Amino acid sequence: MTAAQLARKGIASVVIEGGGRAGRGTAYSTIDPAHLLNVPAGSMSAWADVREDFARRTGDETTFAQRRDYGAYLRSILDEAVANGCVTLIRGTASRADRGERGWTIGVEGQAPVGADALVLAVGNQPPGRLAALDGAGDRLISNPWTASAREAIAEVAATNAPVLIVGTGLTMVDVVLSLEAQGHGGQIVALSRRGLIPRGHAAYDAAPVLFEDLPKGNVTTLLLWLRRRAADVGWRAAIDSLRPHSQALWQSLGAKDQRRFLRHARPWWDVHRHRIAPQVARLLVEMIGEGRLQVVAGRVQASRSIDGLAEVIIRQRSQPDVAASRVAYVFNCTGPLHSIAQTIDPLLSKLLGRGYARADDLGIGLAVGDDSRVEGGERLWAVGPLTKGAFWEIVAVPDIRVQAAAVADDIARELA
Ligand SMILES: Cc1cc2nc3c(=O)[nH]c(=O)nc-3n(C[C@H](O)[C@H](O)[C@H](O)COP(=O)(O)OP(=O)(O)OC[C@H]3O[C@@H](n4cnc5c(N)ncnc54)[C@H](O)[C@@H]3O)c2cc1C
Repeated sequence: MTAAQLARKGIASVVIEGGGRAGRGTAYSTIDPAHLLNVPAGSMSAWADVREDFARRTGDETTFAQRRDYGAYLRSILDEAVANGCVTLIRGTASRADRGERGWTIGVEGQAPVGADALVLAVGNQPPGRLAALDGAGDRLISNPWTASAREAIAEVAATNAPVLIVGTGLTMVDVVLSLEAQGHGGQIVALSRRGLIPRGHAAYDAAPVLFEDLPKGNVTTLLLWLRRRAADVGWRAAIDSLRPHSQALWQSLGAKDQRRFLRHARPWWDVHRHRIAPQVARLLVEMIGEGRLQVVAGRVQASRSIDGLAEVIIRQRSQPDVAASRVAYVFNCTGPLHSIAQTIDPLLSKLLGRGYARADDLGIGLAVGDDSRVEGGERLWAVGPLTKGAFWEIVAVPDIRVQAAAVADDIARELA
């Protein structure tokens, strides 16, 4: 999106992409038709100023399109910019970046370095972090659900109806369940997380907008109490969505102490109400839970081991003193993107952090950036998307990222005059 915005202004850019999914990224490179957008087509345009751009393709702005179709849409925007000569696409992993008198030099594994006047970091979500209690599961553990080995494991258990354990009960869990279901898996699925909360479904509601002046700021407890009262009056969907236009400013009003309290105590509730799933997907989950095919458990994994080609996992359910062992064919780590940026294995990010070109934000979940998305301490260095969630929080979905991408392109144009 940033490259396309720059192309609109006649600014040439080089896009370096190392995963073979340029334009699509992790979310939209899925090939599984069961994976749907969790935002209606009408809100998924890549351009904030051409709202109907994606919905024109689907013919209905209320539809929850397949994510692979959305990936094709984004890729077509990139292809157009490449065809116009504004974007050069390099397939390779960016492994370092150095700032010299003549600007940035970006090292690309196995290829010649790339020179640039400005550098934008758009490396997205980092793969899930390690769960020490699952180390013992050996090759029965799928530590990254977005890989080819995860697809192979799903195909294998679907063919044998073997039981699986999914650790994490958010949107990634939903994806794995949908893939298993689409492939005809008839075995038991247990989904486990500390609180056992699962994403709620979208449904029509009457919007109840609020003014920023009328919202409590600076304290997470007061904000949540406001939200609860408001939900009782107008319904929880209308209440939570009324915060959307103000969420970045509200987040910044909290300050680091209350932001930490939010992450520790409120985040799971926020996520399941705010990041909702398509209605048909929500219905399917309810059906599967009702039939006992999907069991959602609140608890945590204590230990694991690999035995007789299975994973044996020791689980302690919430508020229960005893532990229980269960044997499954595979355990999927669906705990979501890495929470601590310092643990990133991305070579470019590690080098930038290690050499002081960038630093972690106060919460340690992304990079420290200013309101203009410029990386603090870096020169002519910007970050976009999930990397900036410490500064903006609501910056992981397309309706927010597209605004940021346009603003960054404007800022780059001003900077380069
Ligand atoms: C499964 C899933 C479903 C989602 N569904 C929705 C949805 O329905 N609606 C919505 O609005 N939002 C959704 N999101 C959120 C959102 O759209 C994504 O977070 C968004 O795509 C992030 O875009 P990005 O370009 O910053 O990162 P990504 O799309 O992750 O792209 C980052 C790219 O950088 C590459 N890369 C990383 N490091 C390097 C390196 N060192 N060198 C070269 N290349 C590198 C990666 O290969 C990747 O292609 C979803 C997210 C996920 C994970």
